[in-house]
Amino acid sequence: MTLDNFNFSGKKAIVRVDFNVPLDENGHITDDTRIRGALPTLKKILADGGALIIMSHMGKPKGKVNPKMSLGQIKDAVAAALGCEVKFAPDCAKAADAAAALQPGEVLLLENLRFYPEEEGKPVGIDKADPAYDEAKKAMKAAQKEFAKTLASYADVYVNDAFGTAHRRHASTAVVADFFDADHKMLGYLMEKEVKAVDNVLNNITRPFTAIMGGSKVSTKIGIIENLMDKVDNLILCGGMTYTFAKAQGGKIGLSICEEDKLDLALEIIRKAKEKGVNLVLGTDCVAGDKFSNDANTQVCPSNDVPDGWEGMDAGPATREAFAKVIRESKTILWNGPAGVFEFDNFTAGSRTIADAIVEATANGAFSLVGGGDSVACVNKFGLADQVSYVSTGGGALLEAIEGKVLPGIAAIKGE
Ligand code: AMP
Repeated sequence: MTLDNFNFSGKKAIVRVDFNVPLDENGHITDDTRIRGALPTLKKILADGGALIIMSHMGKPKGKVNPKMSLGQIKDAVAAALGCEVKFAPDCAKAADAAAALQPGEVLLLENLRFYPEEEGKPVGIDKADPAYDEAKKAMKAAQKEFAKTLASYADVYVNDAFGTAHRRHASTAVVADFFDADHKMLGYLMEKEVKAVDNVLNNITRPFTAIMGGSKVSTKIGIIENLMDKVDNLILCGGMTYTFAKAQGGKIGLSICEEDKLDLALEIIRKAKEKGVNLVLGTDCVAGDKFSNDANTQVCPSNDVPDGWEGMDAGPATREAFAKVIRESKTILWNGPAGVFEFDNFTAGSRTIADAIVEATANGAFSLVGGGDSVACVNKFGLADQVSYVSTGGGALLEAIEGKVLPGIAAIKGE
């Protein structure tokens, strides 16, 4: 079922959202992007004449009640965003009466799901090495099912709009879906958009397709690089991993970040790219600093000849030009990970060039997806988020999806 094809009139919908918003020390929201992101789904249900039961996690309370992570703190902000009153259920597992009393157009916000260990379904207080662990895990899985059943009992329909947790098989993100038939569970609009964006870069590709992978380490990106190797025309590898590749090929990298145990892996990636006819684009020059600081002295040098005592911290001018040329000519673009230490203003040029080239390609009709943590921070820092096709809201979930993994939150609804 899809949200657009369902009429919520007279129905109660339980909606999993990601309201894990950052709060300051006084419990005030410092960034309400996630609340705004869920509004189209929530408003559609209310506009149809449905009643809303909203559920989310906040922070990592590890299965215990923690007032600092209470969703009660954001109730008024949710009410303001929705433009209607929001009731609050202070115990998410004991909200049956409050849910039953809900009238069409009314909204009930449940307390933080993760105050119950059953939400995540991991046994607490027992080590994996303990012989009793397997039994504890089994018991917890059974308890998780019961918890999910309770949540399901509140509503007629289940909607999942929390892409950020779609890679977890938690009670509210996946298990709960087992208690609804295919006609009574669906993805929210945000989830639909994320799924479509991922589909555009994995299956529905307009060529040339360029993936830009940056960040600090090759080891955390290897799953994605391997999955993309069969799909991309151009693979730009940048950021800290540049130097693992430079060293693997016999280069001198000074103090640059390097994963010594991944040198063989780097050579294997180079070999695979050749074998598959992928245009692998690595930095040839870099901006090196004499200390890891914004006010470091800098010099441009070859990425494979960084002087002793210096470290490569950003892409150099020749590299930036090479990256930009490939990106500008692309029709599908995926960007994950900065090209330098972008947190320091003096080392943002590489990431800025990439962002600008993506914006230009997008204006010329390319589909561009930016996602997975720091590249999102980059486009936000540059104020360019609204000039790319899609900025993903899900860090880990997006990365797992691009690795080609099935996300439990999506599979639970689509039955794949
Ligand atoms: P990741 O979480 O793996 O995507 O890495 C993001 C981090 O990589 C950011 O904090 C960047 O500062 C860092 N990074 C990018 N380029 C470099 C570099 N040349 N040296 C050290 N860190 C880098």
